[in-house]
Amino acid sequence: MAKWWVIFIADIFWKSTVKSRWSASRGERQLLYDADQLVVRICHSQRILHQSTSRVTFTYVQDFTSPYDATVVHLLRKARAVVMGKTNLDEFGMGSANIYSTFGPVYNPHDLGKGQGLGSPSERRVAGGSSGGSAAAVASGMCFATRTNWSACVIQIMVVCRLQTTPIWSTSSILFLCRPYITGALGSDTGGSVRLPASYCGIVGFKPSYGRCSRWGLIAYANSLDTVGLLARTVRDAEIVYDIISEHDDRDPTSMPIDIKKHVDAIAPGFESITGDLEDLTGLRIGIPQEYFVSELAPAIVQLWRDGIAHLRDRGATIVPVSMPNTRHALSAYYVLASAEASSNLARFDGLRYGHRSDKGSFKNDTLPYADTRTEGFGPEVRRRIILGTYVLTAGSYKNYFLQAQKVRRLVQEDFDHVFLFPNPVHHHPLPTDTSSGVHVLLTPAAISTAPKMQDCFPSADETSNAKNPVDAYVGDVMTVPASLAGIPAIVVPFGASPLDGYPIGLQLMAQYGDERTLLRVAATLE
Ligand code: GLN
Repeated sequence: MAKWWVIFIADIFWKSTVKSRWSASRGERQLLYDADQLVVRICHSQRILHQSTSRVTFTYVQDFTSPYDATVVHLLRKARAVVMGKTNLDEFGMGSANIYSTFGPVYNPHDLGKGQGLGSPSERRVAGGSSGGSAAAVASGMCFATRTNWSACVIQIMVVCRLQTTPIWSTSSILFLCRPYITGALGSDTGGSVRLPASYCGIVGFKPSYGRCSRWGLIAYANSLDTVGLLARTVRDAEIVYDIISEHDDRDPTSMPIDIKKHVDAIAPGFESITGDLEDLTGLRIGIPQEYFVSELAPAIVQLWRDGIAHLRDRGATIVPVSMPNTRHALSAYYVLASAEASSNLARFDGLRYGHRSDKGSFKNDTLPYADTRTEGFGPEVRRRIILGTYVLTAGSYKNYFLQAQKVRRLVQEDFDHVFLFPNPVHHHPLPTDTSSGVHVLLTPAAISTAPKMQDCFPSADETSNAKNPVDAYVGDVMTVPASLAGIPAIVVPFGASPLDGYPIGLQLMAQYGDERTLLRVAATLE
């Protein structure tokens, strides 16, 4: 009997200390949750959910469970992450406020810190879109890492991962409470879906270069723009998750091949200061694009942008005003191109192959309820995009809209190539860059305002009034879409709050294609 006790105690000791330490020393990425702890964490999240009234909808088994994992999820699982739940987002990632979801809107967790109570729901602020559920979950400490609409079009899935290497001496449940964890998330960023919610919720939102992370398993919105993005509490957390998921994947034809990756990394080696001090930015050149001073920018945002410039200058960076003249056309080009691609991608949701099927009429004979199926199955914003996208692709308007937008996209890309110090590593004939005036990164605001009120985001039902048109909401993306059109990496870092309403404001950094290291390095100094 004593022998069995010895084995039992040795086994516990092995599992709780030696094995963990051994595996901790083998690599950076460890999972320290077992199934019971995971349940604890989920319950805990739900409790926060009720307390905060932040309407992040946890839909663990809502209608659909994906039969397979997206590549990035597979990579996270390989790094010992655990899929934990699903959060809310705008349908098919279309929206900037997370108000177009079957499950209802997501409120901004910062509403809770305002002291004067939560007021009426319409007075409350949005969390931003489309990945508002993930952003609210990260900002309110509900989760460690989350991901968005992989394999399921209207839901996001939260995963937990825990990364630490220090020795483990206590039982794992104590570890759960006291050890440092990654606080971060994954999302998809087509035109700012991760960066805008990050700015509104006061967290980090990172969009890597197009092709860096596999999109296999992600429902396509606009293929030429879609990227996997990350939501995190700190830049370091975002970087750790990025390192895990930025692997080449044969199943995504746009995934950066290994030889190109090496070439890109060689051209963009990242900025290092001579002193080795991470806070020292001497030698770094930061561009301030004049065209981002749009009339819609709130004064508080302009002030924070100025503070950000001063902050980086104080650390030794050289501030360079730059001009990117085609920026003003980027927003309209984005909405033409994204809608066109979406209208084509969403054609598969016809009730025959995928998606909701209307029970009006039957699929036999001539009574195919195709229109009913799509009218019932898609929400208003998605229908609007499909109609817009189909229109710009029709023979009569293709040249005037779609082709023009493609040309604008090329000009926006060239604007970026002109101002960066390094040539674009994936262009066969890179534009000559001006090494005397070129910059390592660009600094802009992430949004034109703090999180808007929910009531200001819903379009007016009265179409005759001068009140908001649904398309007015698109202007909120003006700071984020240029980087998406150019496919370059961009990151949003929280940088203070508005003195008027106390809601967070984020600053955005953008770098040349493939230069994530410099971007993350500079972003960390803004924290
Ligand atoms: N707000 C933008 C749109 O609706 C971007 C959304 C996204 O990045 N998924 O297209």
